[in-house]
Amino acid sequence: SLAPSFDEQHVPARTARAESTVGLVEIADVSKSYGGTRVLRDVSLTVAPGEVLALIGPSGSGKSTLLRTINHLETVDSGSVTVDGQYIGYERRGDRLHELPEKDVLERRTQIGIVFQNFNLFPHLTAIGNVVAAPIALRRASKTEARAQGLALLDRVGLADKADHYPRQLSGGQQQRVAIARALALAPKVLLFDEPTSALDPELVGEVLDVIRGLARDGTTLLIVTHEIGFAREVADRVAFLEHGEILEEGPPAQVLLNPRHPRTQDFLSKVL
Ligand code: ADP
Ligand code: MG
Repeated sequence: SLAPSFDEQHVPARTARAESTVGLVEIADVSKSYGGTRVLRDVSLTVAPGEVLALIGPSGSGKSTLLRTINHLETVDSGSVTVDGQYIGYERRGDRLHELPEKDVLERRTQIGIVFQNFNLFPHLTAIGNVVAAPIALRRASKTEARAQGLALLDRVGLADKADHYPRQLSGGQQQRVAIARALALAPKVLLFDEPTSALDPELVGEVLDVIRGLARDGTTLLIVTHEIGFAREVADRVAFLEHGEILEEGPPAQVLLNPRHPRTQDFLSKVL
């Protein structure tokens, strides 16, 4: 691979692979350290358009960090991450990468929807207010237009009747469904889920999984970090197992989850199943 040189000292060295992208999300040889600790080690992972990839692995293995590199909430020390052939935080000029200004990063980030474990809704906004905030701010959609689209999205997650409720008036499962509607509001190319059901009471998990199931069926490109192994087996086209910042194995759910090759995968599955 080409190793481009950099004008700007603060831009980390990385390989030049964006042009040969086949995946919608293309993670190539990504490494990342915090202090002296390497939390991602030469991670390569591709999500094809329309594919559902489940990322599993023990706590602290680097799953959230990896997700956060995709929308440039984290920078990488080496390697590259592109979405639809484009870096979120950088622009290529010749064989060099230049850091983009914040407003361009925000615009590019709209291609990626992300749903967190703890919903992260704006507490002072209603359900519909949460869903329309970004379209109004970033797309300059009119309030009427944004509200109509927002209601359609809330309907899609089964919450049309809760549009004017505040997060504190909603259950955890309902809040997470609002968060999914919000993540869909800018029509992202890919949706990232970071343990979307881990903070939920068990009886509320199903309603959130149902919504994600529907997205998978509709052909939405999904990257899902989850401990719901049965769900991963059902909806994922591919499963990747991450441990200590390394992808130890990946493949179809039937292989990785039912017949894992790596002893570490077997060990992990024996603990969570
Ligand atoms: P996972 O999501 O698989 O539980 P994380 O990506 O959250 O793992 O964390 C991977 C490792 O990186 C952990 O050891 C964690 O403590 C560490 N880590 C995560 N974020 C930071 C940070 N901002 N600063 C320092 N260490 C971090
Ligand atoms: Mg995590």
